[in-house]
Amino acid sequence: MSKPPEWLAAGWPHIWLPYAQMKTASLPIPVVGGHGARLKLADGRELIDGVASWWTMAHGYNHPHIRECVARQLETLPHVMLGGLAHEQAFTLAKRLAALLPGDLNRVFFSDSGSVAVEVALKMALQFWINRGERGRHKIVSFKGGYHGDTFATMAICDPDEGMHSLFKGALAEQFIVDLPRDAATTRALDDLLGRERRSIAAVIVEPLVQGAGGMKFHEPEVLARIAETARRHGVIFILDEIFTGFGRTGTMFAMEQAGVVPDIVCLGKALTGGTAPLAATVASDRIFEAFLSDDPARALMHGPTFMGNALACAAANASLDLFEREPRIRQIKRIEAQLRAGLEPARGLPGVRDVRVKGAIGVIELERIDREALRARFVEEGVWIRPFNNIVYTTPPFVITDDDLQRLAATMVKVVREST
Ligand SMILES: *Cc1c(COP(=O)(O)O)cnc(C)c1O
Repeated sequence: MSKPPEWLAAGWPHIWLPYAQMKTASLPIPVVGGHGARLKLADGRELIDGVASWWTMAHGYNHPHIRECVARQLETLPHVMLGGLAHEQAFTLAKRLAALLPGDLNRVFFSDSGSVAVEVALKMALQFWINRGERGRHKIVSFKGGYHGDTFATMAICDPDEGMHSLFKGALAEQFIVDLPRDAATTRALDDLLGRERRSIAAVIVEPLVQGAGGMKFHEPEVLARIAETARRHGVIFILDEIFTGFGRTGTMFAMEQAGVVPDIVCLGKALTGGTAPLAATVASDRIFEAFLSDDPARALMHGPTFMGNALACAAANASLDLFEREPRIRQIKRIEAQLRAGLEPARGLPGVRDVRVKGAIGVIELERIDREALRARFVEEGVWIRPFNNIVYTTPPFVITDDDLQRLAATMVKVVREST
């Protein structure tokens, strides 16, 4: 084993890590490379990445095709502003995303993070009504257990009790955060709310089929279809946040396909570039877009992230879409699903295990209680990278993970959970 790299200790007093209590945070693990589903550590070891770098690394680390396309773009044009200028990668990507998405989701607005993509969707929804002359429609309906980002407008539509944002309660916009319509009572409650508040509600937003960062909670396609139908019937804008679920994660290219619903606006991010670079997109239907067409300049969408449509990121995204076309990703995801079902099943019924669930390339063991830090360290000792949150131990592996690595990943999850409870 070699010494920890010098840069780690030198930068440690200056870096502020995500979601970390810095007083007690342990030194993070230095990574120097990656290939496929594996991370190469500075000390020479490898970890099987069960998290795919926060659900982004669809094709694995350092896929040669993505690397080649980004390198080529770097040699010609790494970036140019989209305000008044154009480059091929962004225009091509917009066309390809519109072709890939169902219905008339035809207008792509780029940004650089998922939270901003959701902010843009909310702004589109509110301004849609303003442009149509309906004042006062600025409330959003979202769902308990949901997560839509860490910025202020998005915090206001996350699960209010989940804890991550509860400190800011008084500073956040008050929105309607309701139960998913899983049964007759909650379906009626949603219907009543949209009827009662129809003058104040601009949009309904939901993560389709899987609420990710709120706890990897699944719902049936019928529940999603019910939300879509209720929003339609009351004439409010229907927004899908596919930032986590998009690009194959739940077993279809987009989760919405499993319920046969098409939203007015969809948010994409995370795996959009195959994990290579930050990029997000907010895609609007023709009807939404047309409400912004006017002789009045004030009706335009006044938004424009500095790095929107960055050429390196768009080149990575185009390369990632190539790979979804050329390589058998959806078949791989089905195989991962079957393997995770078999591999995690032994955890069901263990003391302290509340639930075991699998959908697409997502495998979850939900516990009664959890010591996240201790578990994380145990996983690293076992050679896998699993980062528990809330009370769950989960995996969202890169789709190119080998059968052997996936088997080891699932077996290690069961083993570590068994010894911890
Ligand atoms: C991760 C995530 C976001 C936020 O994306 P960032 O890129 O972290 O800002 C929003 N919605 C969902 C469903 C997500 O999973």
